[in-house]
Amino acid sequence: MPTHIRSAWFRTLGQLLAVLAAGVLLGLLLDQVWLLLTVAALAVVAWHYWRLRRLLVRLTARQRVQPGKGEGVWNELDRLLYRGQSEMRMRKRRLLDMLRAYRAAADALPDAVVVVDRNTQRVQWFNKAATRLLGLQHADLGSAVGECLQPLALSHWLAAGRNAEPLLDAASPADPELRINLRLIPYSDEHWLLVARDVSKMLRLEQMRQDFVANVSHELRTPLTVIHGYLDMLDPAEAPEWAPILSEMQKQSQRMTQLVEDLLTLSRLEAQDSLPDESVAMASMLATLRREAEALSQHRHVLTVVDEAGVDLLGSNKELHSAFSNLVGNAVRYTPAGGSISVRFAREGDGAVLSVQDSGYGIPQAHLPRITERFYRVSTSRSRESGGTGLGLSIVKHVLHLHQARLEIQSEVGRGSVFSIHFGAERVHPRESDTLRAPAQSQPA
Ligand code: ADP
Repeated sequence: MPTHIRSAWFRTLGQLLAVLAAGVLLGLLLDQVWLLLTVAALAVVAWHYWRLRRLLVRLTARQRVQPGKGEGVWNELDRLLYRGQSEMRMRKRRLLDMLRAYRAAADALPDAVVVVDRNTQRVQWFNKAATRLLGLQHADLGSAVGECLQPLALSHWLAAGRNAEPLLDAASPADPELRINLRLIPYSDEHWLLVARDVSKMLRLEQMRQDFVANVSHELRTPLTVIHGYLDMLDPAEAPEWAPILSEMQKQSQRMTQLVEDLLTLSRLEAQDSLPDESVAMASMLATLRREAEALSQHRHVLTVVDEAGVDLLGSNKELHSAFSNLVGNAVRYTPAGGSISVRFAREGDGAVLSVQDSGYGIPQAHLPRITERFYRVSTSRSRESGGTGLGLSIVKHVLHLHQARLEIQSEVGRGSVFSIHFGAERVHPRESDTLRAPAQSQPA
């Protein structure tokens, strides 16, 4: 026990004894010792009762206890309670200030933030940007978030909870002109954070970029055709000293034409949300791929085409052919003479997989995550030499995205690569006639 508390106890005890002694002395004088001792004891009890009652009344009424000036235990208790209350108030004020600062920060965010109760899916709090981007009003507090954000259809998305993929490029319920991305972040056992970001500007810029590339490519097409045409008309036999220059010019103009065509293909694919669902006859597709590979390889490689799926695909004939032939073309171009290339179409669960395997240069692991980016090349010189534009795998990625298919790449430097395209069950359908199957089962070229 601290010394000041101990001395307060002794002082109160001293006071108690003094009152009782005064009672006894008065009792002796008046010859009524027991009576006056009892009166003195009752007075002490009454005084303590009064102090206790006063304290209880103040605490019940949440009144501030005033620090006592005296030295007894009651004054000491008043002082301790006063100190506790002051500390509590200060802590409360600090917490309130912090809460206000956090709210002000959340309000200053350009993104809409909505706190949603996880069990009831009701709105618990939202910041200012949520009013601008999602149209939430004060009256929406406590309402179901799905209903507040109508006409956005969020029920399935909210039901997915923790596994909900971000909703990209949705129209804002507050203003259909605004495009937003929505994300659901479960941050505690009871709460979700729904975050909406205005992506209108980014999408506009992206659209401008796409239009720019498409327009430039389109404008370049005609002059290139003219240059290419005139170059073809020039006869190197008439000026043999110009022959190597002419041949280089033809090669470069061809490369430029291919680049422009690839850029236009990419722009066209980017502008599309879906492609027609045609039946893609895989037997004839594989036969075409084989012919193209043979033409490109010029007997420098061992080619194998295996068709063991016994099913066809659903999708765009033209775009799937472009994706497949890009992979086959790459396999030929990045495999030195004498290597082998094998194209295989097989079932995989309820879906199907088309894989193109080569025994070529291979790709270092570090490059694999970025290999499908535009103009991304492992070796620029090798790609140029082989006539590549750096856009082939980008085109493949876009085509596959439009078919909800997935590209998997396995590669080892010096040993070769396998590019596999995985199609889901919804992209596979029974082959109408098995007679087409025979020609694709090819032997090495
Ligand atoms: P490019 O027109 O340059 O071939 P792509 O987008 O088709 O462009 O391919 C990107 C890069 O990936 C290529 O430059 C090449 O380095 C690498 N690559 C693609 N396919 C293969 C392959 N089968 N073997 C080795 N490297 C490959």
